[in-house]
Amino acid sequence: MDYLNLIFGGALLAIPVIFIMNLLINRMTNMAFKDITKGFVGELDEYLTQHQSCKTEKGIKCFKCGSLSLKNLGAHSRHDTLRLVSCNSCSTKLFYNITE
Ligand SMILES: [Zn+2]
Repeated sequence: MDYLNLIFGGALLAIPVIFIMNLLINRMTNMAFKDITKGFVGELDEYLTQHQSCKTEKGIKCFKCGSLSLKNLGAHSRHDTLRLVSCNSCSTKLFYNITE
């Protein structure tokens, strides 16, 4: 009977621990995301809302210098689903994009 109490007590203790760990991991992930995307206008639709003239027939252009040559890099690696788009000519950070 004693070991049942032990298991039950352990499970009860694990619930708040898992909850707090989850909260911390979420906060760390959120901070990392904010850090990486710092300086970028936002996602593509946000960028185009703020810089409506940047949507052209030939594609999206840089709001600062007007260049159509943009670089699209993965945040951590080449295949990262979080893409950071900046200007190829003046290096201005433009927008980020999350691909699936
Ligand atoms: Zn530019």
